[in-house]
Amino acid sequence: MRGVLTVFDGHNDTLTREDADAFATGREGGHVDLPRARRGGLGGGIFAAFTPTPGDPGIDGEPAPPVGQDTAAGLVSRTLGRLLKLEREGHVAIARGPGDLDAARAAGKLAAVAHIEGAEAIDPGLLALDVLQAAGLRSLGPVWSRPNTFAHGVPFAYPSSPDTGPGLTAAGTRLVRRCAELGIAIDLSHLNERGFWDVAKLELAPLIASHSGAHAICPASRNLTDAQLDAIGASGGLVGVVYAVVFVRPDGAEDPDTPLEAIAAHVRHVADRIGVEHVALGSDFDGATIPRQLGDAAGLPRLLEAIRAAGFGEDEMELIAWGNWRRVLEAAWGT
Ligand code: ZN
Repeated sequence: MRGVLTVFDGHNDTLTREDADAFATGREGGHVDLPRARRGGLGGGIFAAFTPTPGDPGIDGEPAPPVGQDTAAGLVSRTLGRLLKLEREGHVAIARGPGDLDAARAAGKLAAVAHIEGAEAIDPGLLALDVLQAAGLRSLGPVWSRPNTFAHGVPFAYPSSPDTGPGLTAAGTRLVRRCAELGIAIDLSHLNERGFWDVAKLELAPLIASHSGAHAICPASRNLTDAQLDAIGASGGLVGVVYAVVFVRPDGAEDPDTPLEAIAAHVRHVADRIGVEHVALGSDFDGATIPRQLGDAAGLPRLLEAIRAAGFGEDEMELIAWGNWRRVLEAAWGT
């Protein structure tokens, strides 16, 4: 008989949503809350804080302000504050080290890794980075899909190479080095290709793309070429395969009627290319259109069944669902 798989998920935007205060009791829509996490076997994940681009809908539905550092720092504080409140109230366990992941799993509590998606909240002198690390930050994407002080995010384009412009700035290199010293994982998912190689050549930590797909299947700018996958494998890192239909479907269409087999095909491709120990899950729950057949976090067992059907054994499924994230986060945190 098959055991029940617990999933660690590489990326969600849930706490940036306007109804995030209902996380513990259950939200009306969206993809993740505590009751649905329990039903679907979602045992842990990386929870993003995010600064919206001006003109886009902002956190709490307010119009997004300019992306100045002070504004971004305020928005990030509110999102991380929500996570700290959930911890204080006993609903989640913030994972600050690998032992916290194990303890939360053993206790049946949701393990949350604090992440910022785009480092606009951090000053070029990196003083705010120390504050955020002290508050529990353990994962950071230097950019979202736009340029900032540190790097150049990859714009959304299909079909397109991820090689869209310059890579890390000098401040970006300092940021990545300081994150390694502080035990903060670097997430490459929104970097363009040159930025990816700039981080890779520093050889500081296993390379992580928390919510991406395979460019060989879906040639979107956000996806990873086989050469990038090879570098991730060689570094001991991983790809969290994204569920966003626009990065999954070969035609790049935003069509929720996308079969779960389409996600499983990316898992299969990464495993075949660089080994099953380098592929995991990275939903983009509450940040993207995902297959209707999955629905939300409660539907995870259906996705796992589709991945299993792509030819993975139970030991491999455990690695994909939890073990690979556990190993790579420990290595990236340097603990
Ligand atoms: Zn993202």
